[in-house]
Amino acid sequence: MSVTQHYDIAIVGGGLTGGLAALALSARGFTCAVIDAGDPAAMRDAAFDGRTTAISYASARVFRRLELWDQIAPAAEAINDILVTDGRAKSRFDDGAVSTFNLHFNSRELEDGTPLGWIVENRILRNVLFDAIEKNHAVTLFAPAKRADTKFNAGETVTVLEDGLSISAALVVAADGRHSSLRAEANIKTNQWRYPQTGIVATVAHERPHKGVAQELFLPAGPFAILPMTPVRERGQTEKNRSSLVWTERVEAAPAYMALDDESFRREIEKRFGPYLGAVEPAGPRWSYPLAFTLAQSYIAPRLALIGDAAHAIHPIAGQGYNLGVKDVAALADVLDEARALGLDIGHLAVLQNYQRWRRFDSAALALGTDLLNRLFSNDIAPLRVARDIGMGAVGKIIPLRKFFMRQAGADAGALPSLMARER
Ligand SMILES: Cc1cc2nc3c(=O)[nH]c(=O)nc-3n(C[C@H](O)[C@H](O)[C@H](O)COP(=O)(O)OP(=O)(O)OC[C@H]3O[C@@H](n4cnc5c(N)ncnc54)[C@H](O)[C@@H]3O)c2cc1C
Repeated sequence: MSVTQHYDIAIVGGGLTGGLAALALSARGFTCAVIDAGDPAAMRDAAFDGRTTAISYASARVFRRLELWDQIAPAAEAINDILVTDGRAKSRFDDGAVSTFNLHFNSRELEDGTPLGWIVENRILRNVLFDAIEKNHAVTLFAPAKRADTKFNAGETVTVLEDGLSISAALVVAADGRHSSLRAEANIKTNQWRYPQTGIVATVAHERPHKGVAQELFLPAGPFAILPMTPVRERGQTEKNRSSLVWTERVEAAPAYMALDDESFRREIEKRFGPYLGAVEPAGPRWSYPLAFTLAQSYIAPRLALIGDAAHAIHPIAGQGYNLGVKDVAALADVLDEARALGLDIGHLAVLQNYQRWRRFDSAALALGTDLLNRLFSNDIAPLRVARDIGMGAVGKIIPLRKFFMRQAGADAGALPSLMARER
């Protein structure tokens, strides 16, 4: 006999976006089922995901309000400055400074001097989310559990898992990533393309402290980002300075870099880092990620809302992909909360349209902006090089423009959901 369990909301995907959604929605009083195909023990492990995430200061407010930030903060490195440099400018390392063709975003220029964001290891975020979900009585995690089928009926949805269990809910939230099967089954079309680039990710130990400076160096193959991490102290050793490397490389060239032995890889990164952090060495394994753009043409269908990469998967050039997902979560929580207060059905299309209106234009604009940025910078075409260097020089000289870009990077622009609102 089949068993059906009832929840207000079924969230398919317990990754960084789905996990956060469960906590934000349960904080508003909704009961949530989270279904993930992966094994939580494996997903918590360091080997599962070697990436770090640049958490914007607006996203950090969400973690703070959900009482998650205290667990994250000891492992979060503040970004005090962002230095964007055109890697071709020959004077990049002259006098130990960067070339004149650079942009310097300085957190001290913002009114409250808050850091521009924080670099946190994905492994830490996942563990904090899973720990909070385990303690939360309003959230039930089904994992590892694959969704076999979802039926969207007039008054409810029924999601059947491969083991036969049925979960009924008023609303299904698709947080099942950029290959979202829920999106496909709802016949929601996407605009998508592959970038001819691979993201190589590694942790790098270095001699000198990074002082909270994130460097984005534009090389002809794509951006090469050096992101400040918290130092580590291994047993009996002195503190080790660390940075996270996100190296965008041509698809054809990436496998050879991935296959290098540690010493050859060290020489390659040393060439690109230059001398500013002193001696560098890889600290741990390397990961590689195919890069693609996916934008859903609709974020909603009757009783279905798309969030995170299921709605928009973007190039990591600006470190904004997850921050978009955090804003989806915060906006959805406000929309559903308000609907319930008015006695409305949270799965009704008219309610979900409020979510779509709030999020689709905002995230599509950022997604396309990052795409343009990548096309503009990932090349070595002389006229484009000159134009972007002049552009960077101009933005760099105008303080209000710099502040504008810092607010965009902090995801602190536009209509902010209550979980993201500025503290008074
Ligand atoms: C190299 C790189 C660097 C990045 N750096 C940054 C950064 O600095 N800042 C930033 O904001 N963003 C960054 N991003 C983007 C960020 O990593 C993603 O936006 C984010 O991880 C998406 O999370 P998600 O939970 O939406 O999707 P996913 O991580 O794809 O999670 C989807 C989940 O759904 C589950 N699932 C899928 N199908 C099913 C099914 N049928 N049944 C059950 N479960 C299912 C999967 O197991 C998975 O756990 C970066 C991305 C890359 C590639």
